[in-house]
Amino acid sequence: MALFDQYPVVLSNSLSGKKETFNPIHPGKVGMYVCGPTVYNNVHLGNVRTFLTFDVISRYLRFLGYTVRYVRNITDVGHLESDADEGEDKIAKKARLEQLEPMEIVKQYTEDFHGVMRQFNILPPGIEPYATQHIVEQIEITERLLKKGLAYEVNGSVYFDVKKYNQSNHYGILSGRKIEDLMESGRSLDSQDEKREKIDFALWKKASPAHIMQWPSPWGKGFPGWHIECTVMSTKYLGDTFDIHGGGMDLKFPHHECEIAQGTAANGKTPVKYWIHSNMLTVNGQKMSKSLGNSFLPAELFLGNHPLLDKGYSPPAVRFFMLQSHYSSTLDFSNEALQAAEKGYRKLSNALKLTRTLTHPGARDVNVELEVELKRLTDECYLQMSDDFNTARTLAVLFEMASRINDFQSGNLNPGQVGKNVFETFLGTFADFMEQVLGLQEEQHPNGHLLDNVINVLIDLRKKARNDRNYSLSDKIRDDLKQIGVQLKDGKDGDMTYTIEN
Ligand code: AMP
Ligand code: ZN
Repeated sequence: MALFDQYPVVLSNSLSGKKETFNPIHPGKVGMYVCGPTVYNNVHLGNVRTFLTFDVISRYLRFLGYTVRYVRNITDVGHLESDADEGEDKIAKKARLEQLEPMEIVKQYTEDFHGVMRQFNILPPGIEPYATQHIVEQIEITERLLKKGLAYEVNGSVYFDVKKYNQSNHYGILSGRKIEDLMESGRSLDSQDEKREKIDFALWKKASPAHIMQWPSPWGKGFPGWHIECTVMSTKYLGDTFDIHGGGMDLKFPHHECEIAQGTAANGKTPVKYWIHSNMLTVNGQKMSKSLGNSFLPAELFLGNHPLLDKGYSPPAVRFFMLQSHYSSTLDFSNEALQAAEKGYRKLSNALKLTRTLTHPGARDVNVELEVELKRLTDECYLQMSDDFNTARTLAVLFEMASRINDFQSGNLNPGQVGKNVFETFLGTFADFMEQVLGLQEEQHPNGHLLDNVINVLIDLRKKARNDRNYSLSDKIRDDLKQIGVQLKDGKDGDMTYTIEN
């Protein structure tokens, strides 16, 4: 029996607003698309939270045995400054300001983005398509929508006809917004608009001669709209209807609402079975965003180099901080929360280290209650993650497991009190959920290798002192190391291990 059958995943589908049992379109296989960054700026910590959410979701689905095709795009054209199809293209604007080619901007910020993803141990997607590499497909789908009468051309631009679409479909199905309200609020804004209705959105925009990025099309020179890019890139690689579409909560409307409308109109099928939205990282309750000036870059966070930060924090401690809340809740940044996360992560990291050294002596004197508890904790890891990818409750289980692991290490509990298989599965599950599912590796110290070797030299000296019955030297080594935060632990048979404290 596959793990995904044993621990079926239940997820909150933003489309139905309910928790649903995950049942992929093709058994055992998952197609997942996540809106990637618009590469005109360094990614900030808020962006990282969203990509981390979907990293953990794809990791867990794979861990359960699914084959996951994960597509996350790069938006390198068409994302305008305003959601209402107004303002300059974000990348073109940056290129103009920096006097660079747009593709130089794209290269620079895509590399920055990949670097940040690596620092946070966020795994790359299987496919990372660029919008500019799919211009032909975007023109083709726009032509199809025109032929179906669901789009219209005005002065070299093509717009999606939301009102017409809504006659036989439901625009607002995802966001819960009502088309009448949207039309009402839009009407008073701008009478100059060439669109028939303010809620119509661009599939293709005419480019002025000064516009840097433009391509020939049946409607003259122009560039694609932001929403159509994601429709094209998701369905090209995952099919007309695929399993999971994700992104930050702020993309629900209009971006994802428009994707549903275009996909349904073009292909006659609803494009996505499960929509997942990750909530915002906030600072004092306000969304972290570049434009609000309350964002900081990962590099600033690591160095503590920002007025909002008391000190620097390591990438895994920050990863841990983000995983401590469920992806659907907002997460407020604070120094106190990060400091607590640093300690929590260190505790789990120390336990992870111990899983590599603890061994089972062969069963003796089995304690049934302890066995039941270890099996329950092992099971709970899966149950919590399968319950809408609840990383917060999974971490709580891992803390309970870490206490038992410390008990085994200190001798409070004896591994011989439980069967070898139970013991090893318990340790293995802890390590797998830490590393493979949550992506939390063992803490690396600067010069970690060297430090490890030096401590091992001291441990050898202490062992020798003990053999020579030189207990005062043995105690001195232990106490001096403790003073500098290295805790030696005496195991059975004279073995010694160490953990590094805060
Ligand atoms: P952008 O590059 O602005 O298109 O954003 C890339 C991704 O980051 C999108 O999925 C956004 O929803 C997400 N995002 C932006 N700001 C935040 C934030 N403060 N917290 C969480 N996700 C965010
Ligand atoms: Zn998108």
